Amino acid sequence: MMPSDLPLHNPVYAGCYAWGRRQVDQRRKAPGRPSTGRVVKDSTQWLVMLPGRLPAYITEQEYEANLARMAANQQTAAVPGAPRDGAALLSGLLRCGRCGGHRMSVRYPDGSGAGRARSVHGYACAFYQANYGTGGTCQHVSGPALDGYITSQVLEAVAPAALEVSMAAASQAEDERAMLDKLWRQRVERARYAAGRTRRQYQLAEPENRLVTRQLEADWEAALAEAARLEADYQRFTEEGPAVLTTAERTAIQALAGDLPRVWHAPTTTQADRKELLRILIQDITVNVAGDSEIVDVTITWAGGHQTTGQAVRPVGRLDQLTYFPALLARVTELADAGRSNGQIADTLNTEGFRPPKRTSRFTGEQVRALITQRGIRRQAKGRPTVLTSLPPGQWSVPGLAAELGMPVPTIYTWIYRGWITRPPRPRKPVLDHHRRRPAATRTTPAQGTPARLLHPSSMGPARTRNRQ
Ligand SMILES: [Zn+2]
Repeated sequence: MMPSDLPLHNPVYAGCYAWGRRQVDQRRKAPGRPSTGRVVKDSTQWLVMLPGRLPAYITEQEYEANLARMAANQQTAAVPGAPRDGAALLSGLLRCGRCGGHRMSVRYPDGSGAGRARSVHGYACAFYQANYGTGGTCQHVSGPALDGYITSQVLEAVAPAALEVSMAAASQAEDERAMLDKLWRQRVERARYAAGRTRRQYQLAEPENRLVTRQLEADWEAALAEAARLEADYQRFTEEGPAVLTTAERTAIQALAGDLPRVWHAPTTTQADRKELLRILIQDITVNVAGDSEIVDVTITWAGGHQTTGQAVRPVGRLDQLTYFPALLARVTELADAGRSNGQIADTLNTEGFRPPKRTSRFTGEQVRALITQRGIRRQAKGRPTVLTSLPPGQWSVPGLAAELGMPVPTIYTWIYRGWITRPPRPRKPVLDHHRRRPAATRTTPAQGTPARLLHPSSMGPARTRNRQ
């Protein structure tokens, strides 16, 4: 048997009679070897193809599906840059939830199919782009985030505890079925009894009572028909019943489930193995990015048709794409107002479960500083911000002085510009030196120690910025 003649390829298993599948290609014929040069032709070129002529082991649809699946597998292997052992775990499984279930394709890190190079693989639906040449990709999800989410879902679904639940549900279903079966048998029994009784009544009737016997005969016939109908229905009920797992099968499944996480993460398990396993367990996965945010709604259709839904989190480019951006902004403002340093704010955010965009997992003080600058969050602490305690007496940072005097930050910069307060050349962060105006360089509260002119700038010049709070 040639490799291409494996049961899945041969149409005879679908009940089709075919002739001329292999034809001789003269160009491939080796001189002096009569059996060479035969090639398997595409089904459209077969000489004879008669469906439904032979007993079928699989339906024609199953046969077609097999061929399509094999072709798909072959294509995956043949596409350059997409090795079978590639990093993308979900290739071929993803469908786009935005444009009606079109297949999503894999984008590999080399940037194939996309403008700029990517550092990790991703999944994209390019339906509109490919078919109408308009717009960008329909949606794009970073690969590692989605791969990780699906893996966790699969391992969770086959975890021993989860299996315990589904097996308990299955045995409950079996119990219910046993009860139904009992009811069915009782109904059939009653119908048979009724048929027997009408038969006896008919047999006991005096033959001269023709009208009575005719009626009894009709009753008997009806009872027989009813019993036959119920028996047929009961037969169908038993045939439709799902296969019941044997104890040995249950034990095997449980052992396998306990092993799966270990097998999944084992260094000897290849990505191709994992893909294979996913394809056994999962029929397809529909993903839908919520707006432009980090949330991805995921619907997994498991083999057998059962669906589960959940949310994965994808990295996004900007902070304001995050669904919790308003909450984040409010928290940062609150913490800044309380006089926390950027580093402290970052730590608090991390502890409270806020996550930055992109692929970093923790906020840094630098990110917080950038956010505070961009969004114009100012420290308007009632007391002196704790960060300032490290500065030598008589010196303030710009926000510190603004807080100290209760003035807007831009006003302080205006004063620096006019030379009313000085800023030392180093360090680069504006640290204000008060000495020029007030040689007594002790730390003072604004009410006592700040020069009256600083507290009331309007008396010295324009106060444009004063009320811009
Ligand atoms: Zn789409």
